[in-house]
Amino acid sequence: MDVIRAEEMGMCFGVRDALKVVDAIRDPSRVTIHGELVHNPVVTRRLAGAGFRQSPEGDREFPAPTPLVLITAHGVSDAERRRLEAAGKGLIDATCPLVRRVHEAARALEAEGRHVLLIGKPGHVEVRGVVEDLGRCDVIGAADQVRCYESRRLGIVCQTTMPPDVVDEACDRIRRLNPRADIRLVDTVCLPTRMRQRAMLDLLRRVDAVVVVGGRNSNNTRRLVDLCRQHRTPAHQVESASDLEPGWFAGVDTVGLTAGTSTLDESIDEVHRALERIGIMQQAGE
Ligand code: SF4
Repeated sequence: MDVIRAEEMGMCFGVRDALKVVDAIRDPSRVTIHGELVHNPVVTRRLAGAGFRQSPEGDREFPAPTPLVLITAHGVSDAERRRLEAAGKGLIDATCPLVRRVHEAARALEAEGRHVLLIGKPGHVEVRGVVEDLGRCDVIGAADQVRCYESRRLGIVCQTTMPPDVVDEACDRIRRLNPRADIRLVDTVCLPTRMRQRAMLDLLRRVDAVVVVGGRNSNNTRRLVDLCRQHRTPAHQVESASDLEPGWFAGVDTVGLTAGTSTLDESIDEVHRALERIGIMQQAGE
């Protein structure tokens, strides 16, 4: 069995930079990470081992028990920033600049008097951060959630990790159901997400099955799995090599390997080596 790696995969620069910020912290016991730094249990366990406190994503501890609070790459609303500062917390900001761009674009559209539509996963931490600073905003998770809006001025932004085809479909439907509206789209899907999706489509043309490495709670990892399934290619999501089951690869000549943006290089390499071992075992007829 051959293993082909996607040309673009794994950690994006936003996650790498956030990890560098964390690595530079001298005294982790003074810092609470506000939500999950990345949606990856390997990283989460490592941070806990180093002595960082971490608020669970859905239930952020407030006020944090430490004097310093680290804002993750997913960002938070200005309102939340103010709440933390009012509670006397020092902020260490690891917000990805491409997430900041979504906040700025949404606010600018609202300042133009537009009703903001955010194409993104309802409840996702990045989405919550953007929505909380706006007077009014509809979050659209998929095209079938689009409706005819009262406002004749609409502004569209996207969660950074939304698949471009989902965004295109939702935008088409917004235009179709609101034919008289003045619509402005600021496409804020981030470049690393686009490149990974494109590499994935390329990979799908060359393989019989795909292994996607990433946390089960990682939205962009799940999106990669969905993309495989849409193209009728079997996909297996694993967090580490120990999740691999040799039986998945019976009759598979070529397997593709890709990973979500919060996956460590070492996890990808470990899964790659394990797949090669499974291939050798297949050849030996074991
Ligand atoms: S996925 Fe995109 S927006 Fe999110 S941290 Fe990575 S580069 Fe930034």
